[in-house]
Amino acid sequence: MTYEKERNKIIETCLKLQKAGYFPGTWGNVSIRCGDVIIITPSRICYNIMKPEDLTIIDIDGKVTEGIHPPSSEKEVHRQIYQNREDIYAIVHAHTPYAMAASAMEIEAVPCLVEEMSQLLGGSIPVTQVYVPAKEHARLGEAAAAAIGNKNGVLLKNHGPVSCGRDIEEAVLTAEIIEKVCQIYLSVSRPDRFCPIPEPFISSERNRYLYQYGKENT
Ligand SMILES: [Zn+2]
Repeated sequence: MTYEKERNKIIETCLKLQKAGYFPGTWGNVSIRCGDVIIITPSRICYNIMKPEDLTIIDIDGKVTEGIHPPSSEKEVHRQIYQNREDIYAIVHAHTPYAMAASAMEIEAVPCLVEEMSQLLGGSIPVTQVYVPAKEHARLGEAAAAAIGNKNGVLLKNHGPVSCGRDIEEAVLTAEIIEKVCQIYLSVSRPDRFCPIPEPFISSERNRYLYQYGKENT
């Protein structure tokens, strides 16, 4: 079996996120990109019985190259984001209540309200502008890949959050920050009255997180 380490990491992540309430039922999915392939959770297999060999491997064109189960029905969201973004190596799609609520609001994005957003997400969290039914897999992927731009997270309209990272730990942390930020955003009676972080600070904080964080003396 190939990619054993990554398969185990995905299962560990799914169990952790299920326990945290991020994955009700078999909703939610996780993938890791390794070279030319994407290792992704299969469709409709319960996380608590999932074994490493149950995971599916697809190539960047979406063709299954290894595995006995079909890949997650939302594989196009993962695949099309990877295709557009060479800097992303892991993706988590969760079904969490605050992010799902924000995805149903008439907004273009959740504004960049707190520092974690500048650093991890690269600013605001865009929301895809048209609801795409789950069965329209390719359109859902196109909408996600177009809306995310160079950010590390996106909300699928009337659906839920997608978070990305340079590794699986960062994608999980980003999922946690998205949920927390959406909770903050929805906790006030007039979310439009929030004052976002000024644009120059968003890019300077993002660059500091990417290139200087952990290397500074002060
Ligand atoms: Zn979903």
